[in-house]
Amino acid sequence: MSVKKNDEQQICNEKLKELKKTQDKSIEVRNLVEMDLNHIWHPCSQMKDYEELPPIVIEKGRGINLYDVNGKAYVDVVSSWWCNLLGHCNERINGAVKKQLDNLEHVIFANFTHRPAIELCEGLSKVLPRGLTRFCFTDNGSSAIEAAMKMSFQYHYQTGNPQKKRFMALSDAYHGETVGALSVGGVDLYSQIYKPMLMEIVRVEAPDCFRCKYGKCRENCNAECFEAAEKSFEEFGNEVCAFMVEPLIQGAAGMRIYPPVYLKKLRAACDEYNVHLIADEIATGYGRTGKMFACDHAGISPDIMCLSKGITGGYMPMAVAVTTDEIYKGFYADYSEGKAFMHSHTYSGNPLACSAAVEVLKILNDEKIIERANERAPFFNKIIKDKLLNHKNVGEIRSLGLINAIELVEDKEYMKGFDSKRRVGYEVYKKALEKGVVLRPLGDVIYFNPPLIITEKEMEHVVEVCLECIIEVLGE
Ligand SMILES: *Cc1c(COP(=O)(O)O)cnc(C)c1O
Repeated sequence: MSVKKNDEQQICNEKLKELKKTQDKSIEVRNLVEMDLNHIWHPCSQMKDYEELPPIVIEKGRGINLYDVNGKAYVDVVSSWWCNLLGHCNERINGAVKKQLDNLEHVIFANFTHRPAIELCEGLSKVLPRGLTRFCFTDNGSSAIEAAMKMSFQYHYQTGNPQKKRFMALSDAYHGETVGALSVGGVDLYSQIYKPMLMEIVRVEAPDCFRCKYGKCRENCNAECFEAAEKSFEEFGNEVCAFMVEPLIQGAAGMRIYPPVYLKKLRAACDEYNVHLIADEIATGYGRTGKMFACDHAGISPDIMCLSKGITGGYMPMAVAVTTDEIYKGFYADYSEGKAFMHSHTYSGNPLACSAAVEVLKILNDEKIIERANERAPFFNKIIKDKLLNHKNVGEIRSLGLINAIELVEDKEYMKGFDSKRRVGYEVYKKALEKGVVLRPLGDVIYFNPPLIITEKEMEHVVEVCLECIIEVLGE
C-alpha cells in the first residue's frame, strides 16, 4: 500500500517538474520576444504588425525545416529569402566552414589572398557563361549591384565614352535596396519615398506575360514587347553605359516570368549600342530556374553578372560581380593613370563564406542536385495546378524550376487584383505560419521557392497547407 502511495507521489512530482519546465520555457520565450521588440528593427517590416504577430524565435534548422524554441517546425519553403539552397545545417557545408574556421576566419583582401577564394573562382569560372572570368567580391547582393554599376560607368569613362553615364532597367525591377540599387529598381513599394535621392534611369516597360498586350502565349511569343526597349535604345543608347536586368524572373515584382527570347534580343541590342548587359542573377542563379544560371536558358553571356543568395548555400553574406577580360583590361594600367577600380568592402572575399561557397559547388556537382530537382519540378508544378488553379481567386500559376508563384486576384474573369489594403497575401501567410509553413508572400502573390532538396512528400504537404490557408482567407 505505502509502496504504491510512494509511486503515486513520485509520478506526481515528475509531472509537477515537467509543468514547471514548460512554464519556465514559456516565460523564457516571452522574455526573448520582449527583448527582441525592445531592440530589433526587423527588415522589410512595419514594426507595429509585430504587436499582433510577434517574432518567432528560431532555435535550429535541419533540412527544409526550421524549429522554434518550443520545438514547433516550420517548412522553409521560401528558402529564408531565397538563399538557402541545400537545406539548413547541411552536414557537408557545416564541415567545410568548421574546418576553415580553425585555419583562418578573415584576412584583408588587398594584396592578400587564400585558397577558398581561389578555389571558388576556379570552380565558378568552369560553370559560368562564356567569358566571365574576373571576380570582384562584395558582401551582399546590393553591394554587388553597386560594384557592377560603378564598374560599367568607369569602364566607359576611361575607354573614350564619357558620355555613357546613365543606366537602363525594366519597370518593376528589383536589384536591392542601397541607393544605387534602388535607383535601377522599379518597385515603388521600396523606392517611392526615396525618389528625390535616386539617380534618373532610362526605364523600359517590362514584359508582362500574364497580361500580354500582344495577345501572345508562350508557344507563339517572339518577345514582341521588346519594341519598348528598342525605342529606348534608339533614343538613349548613346548615353547609356549599362542595362541592368533580372534574367527570366522579376522576383520581387511577384515572380514575373518572361521567355528567354527577350534576353536574346536584349543581348543583341546591347551589342549594337555598346551598352553593357548586367545580369542580376542574385535570385535566379544556382539552379533556381532549372539551369545553373537563368542566362543559360537563352544561351547568352552578360558583360557583368551579379551573384549572391545561393552562392554560400544561404550560410554567409557574400556576393560577387563577375566580369569579362575586356572590361578588366579597361582598368589595367600604370598606377599613375588613375584607372584602378577603387572599390572595396572590408569583408571582401571572406574566407569562411568562400569555404561554404566552394562546398556548395562541390555538392551541386557530386549530388547532381539541379538534375534531380528538375526531375521533381514537373510533379511540384502539377500538384500546385491540380489543387489550386480551380480556386475562384487564383488568377495565374507560373513556374520555372522549383519556383512556383500563385497570383491571387479578386476577379478572375477580368484579372482584377485585390485592394492592397486588404493584405490578402499577408493573411494567407499568417494562417500558414500557424500551420507551420513559411509562405511569406510578395503582395498578393504566394510563392514557393524551396531549397532544391525538397522531397515529393514535402511538396504535397506544403501545397495542401497552402490550399487550406487560401480557403480559410477567401472561402472555397
Ligand atoms: C535579393 C536580391 C538583391 C539584393 O541582395 P541583398 O543581399 O538583399 O542586398 C538584388 N537583386 C535581386 C534580384 C535579389 O533577389
